[in-house]
Amino acid sequence: MAPTGGLLSTSTGRPRPRFHPLRVVGVERVADGAVAVTFGVPDGLAGEFLRFRPGQHLTLRAEIDGEPVRQSYSIAMSPSAARRSGTLRIAAAGVPGGRMSTWLTTRVRPGDVIDVLPPLGDFTAPTVPDAQRHHVAIVGGSGITPVLSLITTVLEDEPRSRVTLVYANRTAASTMFLEELEALSRTHEGRCEVVHVRSREPGEDSLRSGRIDRSRLVRLLDDYAPVEDVDEWYLCGPAGLVETAQDTLADAGVDASRVHHEVFWTPPTDEHDGLRSAPATATRERPAS
Ligand SMILES: Cc1cc2nc3c(=O)[nH]c(=O)nc-3n(C[C@H](O)[C@H](O)[C@H](O)COP(=O)(O)OP(=O)(O)OC[C@H]3O[C@@H](n4cnc5c(N)ncnc54)[C@H](O)[C@@H]3O)c2cc1C
Repeated sequence: MAPTGGLLSTSTGRPRPRFHPLRVVGVERVADGAVAVTFGVPDGLAGEFLRFRPGQHLTLRAEIDGEPVRQSYSIAMSPSAARRSGTLRIAAAGVPGGRMSTWLTTRVRPGDVIDVLPPLGDFTAPTVPDAQRHHVAIVGGSGITPVLSLITTVLEDEPRSRVTLVYANRTAASTMFLEELEALSRTHEGRCEVVHVRSREPGEDSLRSGRIDRSRLVRLLDDYAPVEDVDEWYLCGPAGLVETAQDTLADAGVDASRVHHEVFWTPPTDEHDGLRSAPATATRERPAS
């Protein structure tokens, strides 16, 4: 797994980002079948790797069982935390039959070295320190990873703003970063509300038990984030959930320029699960407005 060497450049003359070997310094289970992997960033690479925008992702490259595999994983921490610690954390949910997600969740250990591209991506929005805004994220499964970076940054950088996260998972056990989100809500009490919606764990509240379809989302937003009170929207996860949320917001008259989104995976059929992360074999990515 040697780094790609050479001084490559694009047709615009800008240097093309290239892979660098980063050492894994931590592997932590963050839900059933999901891990966070932390890379150490050497001082010499800090400029390239630690000056990222919240919501951006890393691209990992590895040879797995003799086959070259390359996949994207969003950075699961705020830029300020990354700079303070000199590390970058990603998180992966295992996908049945998935090459890199299975490798990351079962085989990667501290001390391993993985080829990584510097941060990329447009699923981001600038913070405005003196703003008083309501940021709302609608997230399915591992879509929490970039959103954790985005909302942590908002809570740190915009002291008068608040965040509501609608977070869809099958069960509590499969919910990534459950404890970390609870801690974030406690730290920023009154400014950070997490609304868990579970598809396979009936609870007392029928609104929060079941798949997020359009009618459930309309009712959730009425209760927790009336659209007229929201300034910025962040949608992330599998295509089914992101499309449902986009359509619902468009019907409610929300301007698309305030809706930022990232799709992790589009299923090959119409059978959108809507609640689980999956491979980007047919990923639709569109720059956020
Ligand atoms: C910008 C971006 C950021 C991303 N960030 C993250 C992140 O932070 N965390 C994260 O976990 N993922 C993230 N992903 C998804 C990630 O890049 C991979 O697609 C995912 O981990 C699967 O890769 P894999 O190599 O394991 O699967 P592959 O080996 O590529 O695919 C496995 C095969 O399994 C099949 N398959 C896959 N999923 C299912 C399913 N659910 N049901 C049935 N069959 C299935 C597919 O047909 C495929 O052929 C992101 C994707 C993008 C585009």
